[in-house]
Amino acid sequence: MNTRSDRDPRIGIVGAGVAGITTAVMLKDAGFRNLTIFEKGADVGGVWHWNRYPGLTCDIPAYLYQFSFAVKPNWSHVFARRDEIQRYHREVVEQFGLTKHLRLNCEITSAVFEGSSWQITASDGSQSEVDFLILATGLLHHPHVPDIAGLDTFGGTVLHSARWDDSVQTAGKRVAVIGSGSTGVQLVSALQPEVAHIDHFVRTPQWVIWSPIHLRPASAMDKLLGSFPWLNRRLHSAMLLTEDFLTDLFIRPSWRRRLFEQFAWWTLRRQVRDPELRARLTPTYRPMCKRQVFSRSYYPAIQSPNAEFITEPIQEITHSGIRTADGKFHDVDVIVLATGFHPHNYMRPMNLVGRDGTSIDDVWAKGPKAYRMTAIPGFPNLFTVMGPNSSTGSISPLHASELTARYIAQWLKRFRAGEFDTVEVTEAATTRFNDDVAESLGPTVWNTGCNSWYLTDEGEIDLWPFDRKTMAEMLAEPDLRDFVVR
Ligand code: NAP
Repeated sequence: MNTRSDRDPRIGIVGAGVAGITTAVMLKDAGFRNLTIFEKGADVGGVWHWNRYPGLTCDIPAYLYQFSFAVKPNWSHVFARRDEIQRYHREVVEQFGLTKHLRLNCEITSAVFEGSSWQITASDGSQSEVDFLILATGLLHHPHVPDIAGLDTFGGTVLHSARWDDSVQTAGKRVAVIGSGSTGVQLVSALQPEVAHIDHFVRTPQWVIWSPIHLRPASAMDKLLGSFPWLNRRLHSAMLLTEDFLTDLFIRPSWRRRLFEQFAWWTLRRQVRDPELRARLTPTYRPMCKRQVFSRSYYPAIQSPNAEFITEPIQEITHSGIRTADGKFHDVDVIVLATGFHPHNYMRPMNLVGRDGTSIDDVWAKGPKAYRMTAIPGFPNLFTVMGPNSSTGSISPLHASELTARYIAQWLKRFRAGEFDTVEVTEAATTRFNDDVAESLGPTVWNTGCNSWYLTDEGEIDLWPFDRKTMAEMLAEPDLRDFVVR
């Protein structure tokens, strides 16, 4: 029988993307064994599992975009390709013994807090009870399919970028790509050389910053990092410091931000000589306001003879192609929707019901809110990793997940020590945190006047407006004044 001082909490982690993997590793490291990772997909990796469109490359250097506890010495490219990242995730899951905790193809449809535990139900009808529920469900996993007249009448193939079908032939075909975020830009660059013709339909031009995305590490570097893992860990830490410079660009107006803006202009002027096309490609908002796009090959791709850059609004899709508002008709065989996601759904449509029957849909009726990205009033013994106001725009999500998971582990240790049965963040602390967030978002670049997926339906910016040091301080240890423990 468990005594109050040796309780091993039953932990359910939902999601086996980078946030879920990080959480599971951190919790195992802290000695927690009774954990189950529920993953709706057929594999681990989250966005890197679901997205496998041609050209998918992480536009953040792999030496930064990796787990601090599993640094890899031998990345084939400085900016890693999707398949390599996905293999890496599988290897980390194996290496840290997570496979036995993993339930794949298992979507949690309902989680209800009863008494002092969570009753959770999966799509296959199976039920489990856990003491703590950790939602590492990510943001970019509900594809946004645009409401364009006639889309369902198209006679060819329609693909969303996040549901790529390898059996669909694009080589030699007439392909339309709709959307100009990071995904659309990578897709156009990858598809243009092999298709008969590519039309890029762009509602809002993006700033596209030159980046050495094809760079390979020197072989001596692999050997060095492989021989001296401590050096690799140092490199990762150094990359985080470099990232601090970027965070600063986002959150504070400064000459450094203006310099970066000049680089955006330089990329455009250097890579697009035709003034008419350049004018159409020039955004009306500031660089970095939307999620910054990086590419070396996009501007050359859309200036190729088999490519057309189209800013005229789409009027309708017919059986054989796309008609724009100027009456022009574009014959196409394949339509690729690079139209993004519903990022603010988080764990929803899960039926998440907290204390006293509180539904997350009601609590978040005016947009998602949490305390320090991880706790929600009314939802005891529940934490989110990469929850509302996470740092997707500025600080490595892997690093943020690690800090959050260590923070959660501290609560679990207190539970294990018998200090409480339930823990819940207060409404007051959550409001205070969100007020600070709102104020700090003021001078950020995301608030300089653009429409982006960072904005909620209520027009609020759902991002982390502080630097990494502040994040580390806020997640260093629980502030007991902000919680009610029972
Ligand atoms: P996104 O940035 O949300 O872009 C969606 C695009 O679709 C926008 O250009 C949008 O135009 C357009 N769009 C949406 N609805 C439309 C409609 N009805 N008609 C015409 N155009 C429409 O989505 P994403 O490109 O998939 O990228 C999402 C995020 O995933 C990125 O910001 C990034 O965080 C992540 N990502 C990362 C990498 C990486 O290398 N690390 C690669 C890919 C994606 P408007 O701008 O006018 O709204």
